Amino acid sequence: MYKAPVEEIAFTLKHVAGMAEALAAGTFGELGEDLVDAILVEAGRFASEEVAPLGEVGDRQGSRLVDGAVRTPEGWRELYRNWIAGGWNGLTAPEAFGGQNLPHMLHVAAMEMWNSGSMAFALGPTLTMGAVEAVEKHGTDALKSAFLPKMVSGEWMGTMNLTEPHAGSDLGALKTRAERRGDGTYRIFGQKIFITWGEHDFTDNIVHLVLARLPDAPPGTKGISLFLVPKFLVNDDGSLGARNDVFCHSLEHKLGIHGSPTCTMIYGDGKFGEEKGAIGYLVGEENRGLACMFTMMNNARLAVGMQGIAIAEAATQKAIAYAKERTQGRAPGWSGEGMSPIIEHPDIARTLLTMKALTQGARAIAYACAHAVDMAHACVGEDARHWQERSSLLTPIAKSFATDAGVDVASMGIQVHGGMGFIEETGAARYLRDARIAPIYEGTNGIQAIDLVTRKLPLSDGAHVRGFIAELKRIAAAVAASNREGFGDTAARLDAAIADLAEATDWLIATLGGGRLADALAGATAYQRLFGLALTGAYLAKGGLAEAGDGREDRRIALCRFAAENLLAETAALKDRVVNGALSLAAARAVLD
Ligand SMILES: Cc1cc2nc3c(=O)[nH]c(=O)nc-3n(C[C@H](O)[C@H](O)[C@H](O)COP(=O)(O)OP(=O)(O)OC[C@H]3O[C@@H](n4cnc5c(N)ncnc54)[C@H](O)[C@@H]3O)c2cc1C
Repeated sequence: MYKAPVEEIAFTLKHVAGMAEALAAGTFGELGEDLVDAILVEAGRFASEEVAPLGEVGDRQGSRLVDGAVRTPEGWRELYRNWIAGGWNGLTAPEAFGGQNLPHMLHVAAMEMWNSGSMAFALGPTLTMGAVEAVEKHGTDALKSAFLPKMVSGEWMGTMNLTEPHAGSDLGALKTRAERRGDGTYRIFGQKIFITWGEHDFTDNIVHLVLARLPDAPPGTKGISLFLVPKFLVNDDGSLGARNDVFCHSLEHKLGIHGSPTCTMIYGDGKFGEEKGAIGYLVGEENRGLACMFTMMNNARLAVGMQGIAIAEAATQKAIAYAKERTQGRAPGWSGEGMSPIIEHPDIARTLLTMKALTQGARAIAYACAHAVDMAHACVGEDARHWQERSSLLTPIAKSFATDAGVDVASMGIQVHGGMGFIEETGAARYLRDARIAPIYEGTNGIQAIDLVTRKLPLSDGAHVRGFIAELKRIAAAVAASNREGFGDTAARLDAAIADLAEATDWLIATLGGGRLADALAGATAYQRLFGLALTGAYLAKGGLAEAGDGREDRRIALCRFAAENLLAETAALKDRVVNGALSLAAARAVLD
């Protein structure tokens, strides 16, 4: 059973991602290490003892649509009640609406643990928190006071309605219609698909954030507006009013995250209410909805990255436990009686260490991204701009590298289990089934790569990414200068990986500058992985150099060396794919005709 790795998480937050410095500088006000530790311990306890035991039930039973109502798996409603009673829903929300205003870093760490317990369960609250953020930033005061306190407490949940059958990655194609009613409100008509937690029995009301188009809107992404559409309208005294004209038509049958209801939502069908059309309230300005939704999507992207890490951690724990128990053959050098535990076989040990290194690398990248988000909020002027750019640069890498790691590590976990991994009762298979959606939703990893190359590399005319690479070089230099035992060839391998990153970055910036967009995009995914691997090497090294005084230094240095000498060799091939891959791709295109 999953046990939250609270010490590892606390170490990474403080000594790798920058929390220790931020706490010492008073960036988070009165917040101190003791409170951080206490929150992490309690979030970990909730994840291990309350969420994780219900993960398997959720997978087996799934959420079901019965007579138009969604029934969640056994025990999940109570779990949700315990969740909100613990105050977890409002961790980062503003105090003015009942939240605790804690740093985003702490939130993503807690989110990791809850997702390890059950990704399908944690997904619902994740979307609510995103919706809170969008309304808080862009909503009117009236909307905020009517909806935010109950969404922050968790009494109501929120959703995100973007996707339509013909509009997935390309939201400019969406057709859901909004009509002005003349009293400042709107009526919404259309169909949204794949809406996570669009209908359920956790809360009395569900607050949908819906992208739709006004009749006179310009075409494409410049003509999209954002509306808040509650399942039940809210009376002036805060009580629930009439049922709004929105309902869940059906649930999808999915590969994984069975506990999470994925709904087709119908707006304005005339099923509810006297007049056709779901009543919606504008969030932000007309035709500026996509920008508002991006408030929600950026943090949601990092949150999806946390799902990848969460699954990778849980899959790794399960695989290590199995490999210590399962005996087969005799490993070289095995001196015990009979067969050796499979963990003694070099191939299994290598697989498990690869799982560990990818998990820890992805975790460090995601926490560093959350740190940048916190710093951007805390700073002003040039400093704020610097951290804003850092979080922008890291978001696509955190989302894609972590979610790819989730899938890869879960798959390796099955391999370690042998045939039993393919059999559902071990639970190893569930991790892979659950993990597989994360590289797809919240902007596919291919879309993240395009974002990274075309929007993030050009930040400050390339100066930001180059400055970041210079920081990474300093970590490699610090390893070279360190007199700690055990780093092996880390400094040279890390240096080489960062040089690959620098060369690929320069090539992409020059290629984009020369107007050769297709050539740059041909290697975008390879570049994204190259960046993630170089960061993994650098952050594991930073962890190896840190003096936490917890007696685990040697273990960290050993993992860092393992990653540098085994995983970083891949960066040379990835760089080659970035700078030399476009021509052969263009030449081979006809093969697909
Ligand atoms: C379980 C689940 C839950 C979901 N939850 C929600 C939710 O709560 N709310 C919501 O609004 N949506 C949700 N979605 C939808 C999800 O965000 C979309 O599936 C995703 O954005 C991809 O869109 P698509 O499926 O239409 O794929 P497409 O956009 O058709 O993409 C297909 C492939 O083409 C690639 N591609 C597309 N465009 C480009 C391009 N310009 N350049 C290069 N490659 C490209 C993609 O990377 C992908 O590999 C969910 C989906 C699932 C399966």
